[in-house]
Amino acid sequence: DVVVVGSFNVDHVWRSDALPPPGATHSGEYASGPGGKGFNQATACARSGAATAFVCALGDDLGGHHARSLATADGIDLRDQPAPVPTGSAGIFVDAQGRNSIVVGPGANAVLSADFVEGHAAAIAGATATLVQLESPLEAIAAALRLARESGRIAMLNPAPANVAVPRELLALADILTPNETECAALFARHLGERIDGEAIASLDSPRLHALCRDLLPGGTVVVTLGAAGCFVSHADGSLRGDDTAWYRLPAEPATAVDTTGAGDAFNGALAAALALRPGAPFATHLREAHRYAALSTERPGAAASMPTREQLAVRFPA
Ligand code: ADP
Repeated sequence: DVVVVGSFNVDHVWRSDALPPPGATHSGEYASGPGGKGFNQATACARSGAATAFVCALGDDLGGHHARSLATADGIDLRDQPAPVPTGSAGIFVDAQGRNSIVVGPGANAVLSADFVEGHAAAIAGATATLVQLESPLEAIAAALRLARESGRIAMLNPAPANVAVPRELLALADILTPNETECAALFARHLGERIDGEAIASLDSPRLHALCRDLLPGGTVVVTLGAAGCFVSHADGSLRGDDTAWYRLPAEPATAVDTTGAGDAFNGALAAALALRPGAPFATHLREAHRYAALSTERPGAAASMPTREQLAVRFPA
């Protein structure tokens, strides 16, 4: 089992020729769909085949009802804190060049409480892994990681989005940290005083990247996702390392990407699912599964809705 603790948003997307300047009214194509890093990752995890619970906060509105019916459709065990504010949402304008302007209304996501998370301690204690991101209050995230850690389970932190300042003590609660290049650069700058450009992370000398990851998370595994370049892995001498070397790079699966939005969410959800489904397998085996899943997700447009099923994955990557 996996427990995901995090955000649910309804994304409203308008596509028009140009972004409307102040005072202007444009007309364009509208679409809406579920999003939020938490829900995207829970969907990826459930569709990868792992029993998945999703702890979040929802408003008593259409967005909240939508979340409940989507969770039911994917067999996700939804554990929602009722919030006296609207369900999280995002308004997204996209122009013909693909540029966007976005306003996120965190709404209910901002009130998810540590108390509510602690009410699901039994689920966390019984799950192989608990996966959190940074779109929820830090106290709630810390509570989830601490409960997983105290039960001897795997505490997984996807430190996204990059602009959230994560205290060192919170990072230290993670057994697995999964930044992308931008998030990795932000963590190195904030905690190690190392100014490295996000785009330069992938081409850093591997022993140096490993040394930085060891400084950042001395007790855990850091997986830096590198988009089409795959990922870099840095292990501590702990249980997750197994027979693997201390650091290595794994190439991504080749994909004809049409929309890489949510690739990181696909990767994180699939990695958590792999940990739960194949306990004891080498860590690199789990990463290969996550690479396959994320690669296929980039070949489909959309966020949560585009997460592939296990059957679709088997067709794309026959064993
Ligand atoms: P994020 O979506 O958070 O920016 P990344 O861009 O690092 O995260 O992508 C996460 C994972 O998704 C990568 O490690 C890789 O497995 C997969 N991925 C992303 N882009 C591609 C691509 N163009 N081709 C194949 N796999 C990709």
